Amino acid sequence: MIFLLLKSLRERFGKAAIVSGLVAAGTLGGFDGMTVSRAATHASCSQCSPPTWHVVETANFKIYCYGTAGVSPETAAACESLRSKLAARWLADARQAWSPKCNLVLHASDDDYAREVGAAGRSTAASTLIDRTAGQVTLRRIDVKATRPGWHEGALGHELTHVLLADRFARHALPRWVDEGVAILADTSDKQRRHRQDLEQALAARREFRLIELVTLIDYPEAQRWGTFYGQSASLVEYLVERFGERPFLDFVEAASQHGYERALTTAYRLSTAELERQWRAHVAAARDGIVRDGIARDGIARDGIARGPLAGQVTMLVQPAVARPNTGTAVAN
Ligand SMILES: [Zn+2]
Repeated sequence: MIFLLLKSLRERFGKAAIVSGLVAAGTLGGFDGMTVSRAATHASCSQCSPPTWHVVETANFKIYCYGTAGVSPETAAACESLRSKLAARWLADARQAWSPKCNLVLHASDDDYAREVGAAGRSTAASTLIDRTAGQVTLRRIDVKATRPGWHEGALGHELTHVLLADRFARHALPRWVDEGVAILADTSDKQRRHRQDLEQALAARREFRLIELVTLIDYPEAQRWGTFYGQSASLVEYLVERFGERPFLDFVEAASQHGYERALTTAYRLSTAELERQWRAHVAAARDGIVRDGIARDGIARDGIARGPLAGQVTMLVQPAVARPNTGTAVAN
C-alpha cells in the first residue's frame, strides 16, 4: 500500500489519517524533525537497558527502531543491497542516491505500527509514504512491522519498489496497476502465489476487470475488489515484463501517461488494448493448463518449502521488542 501525502491520503481518509500517520503525539528529538508516536505500553525491565530509539544512517536510509537493541550493521547493509538490486533492475541510473534519504521505521509491535499508519493500513504488514513537490520527491518513508521472522523478505522489497518507482515517475502520473503490479514482483514467491489465486478466483467468477478498466483506474478500487486488483495487476505487469523487459515496460507506461494507452501500445508493442487483453488472457489460461498438466507450480516455490526471498539468509532479527507480542495479522495487499 502506498500513500501520497497531502493528496490521495487526505482525500481518501481525511485529515485524521495524516495526523495519525505523521504527527501523532511524541517526538523523536534530534532526528531531523521526524515525528513518530510512541506507545506508552512498553513495559520496562529492571534487568535490562530501558528501551529507547535507535537510528542508523546509511547512504540511502535513516533506519529507526525502538527497543533495547539497535539496528545491526548486517541489516543496514542488507537494506542497501536490496535497494541496489531493485534499482539496477528497474532504473536506468541505479547509482543515483536518495536525497532526502528514506526514513525506514521498524516497528516492534503491531500496535506501534497501527498507530503510525492509521486505520487505512491496519491490515497491512508495511506501508510507504511519498510526498512530491514540483516534480521532486521530498519525502520517502517506509513503515514495517518488524515483529515476525522474515519481515524483510515479505515486505521491504515491495515497499522499496514503490519508492524507486516514485523517483522514476516523479513528473508523470504512475497508474496504480503499475505501482502495485511491479512492487508485487519483489514479494515472496508464496505471496505472489496467493495473488495469482485471487486472480484465478476472480476469473472463475467473472469478476475480473476489463483491461482498459484496470489500466485507467485513478486510485485503488473499493475494498472488496482489492484481491482482484492486486492479482490482476501483478499478472498483467509480469506478462508485459517477461515479454518486453523491465525498462521498456516503464518507458511504455510513461508514454501511455502522456499519449494514452492505445497510442502507446501501438508504438511500443504494435498492439491494440483489445489484442493485448486477448493475448494476456491466453497467457493466463496457458499457465493454468501448465500447472494442471505438470503438477508444477509456476511460482517456483522450492519443494523444500524454503522461501527464496530477496534477503533470505542475509538478515537477522534486528528489533528487540521491549514487550514481545505475537503478530497475528496477515496481509496480502501492501
Ligand atoms: Zn504496494
